[in-house]
Amino acid sequence: MKPRPGQGSQLAGALESAGSGLRGETSVGSTGLDQARLDQEHELQRVEAALKRLDHGRFGHCLYCGDQIGLGRLKSDPAVESCDTCEEDEPGSPGPS
Ligand SMILES: [Zn+2]
Repeated sequence: MKPRPGQGSQLAGALESAGSGLRGETSVGSTGLDQARLDQEHELQRVEAALKRLDHGRFGHCLYCGDQIGLGRLKSDPAVESCDTCEEDEPGSPGPS
């Protein structure tokens, strides 16, 4: 993948390393840690979805309202899918605090 200029390249690197790390771990697999595995696979899906958005030039935009997601929010979780406003509306999401 080619390096990209601007804020995207840094975050893309973070996403890619997160994705490859998760892939490595999930491929090992083990029984008895079902919940941990599910969490990991869910996280991998989020990362891969974010990488897809990056490819389509939509990375960093909220999936729900289309607004730009804050850079601080993206840095703490590059695979985040929603802006602060929509995160609050999402049922069942624990939130950072
Ligand atoms: Zn939003």
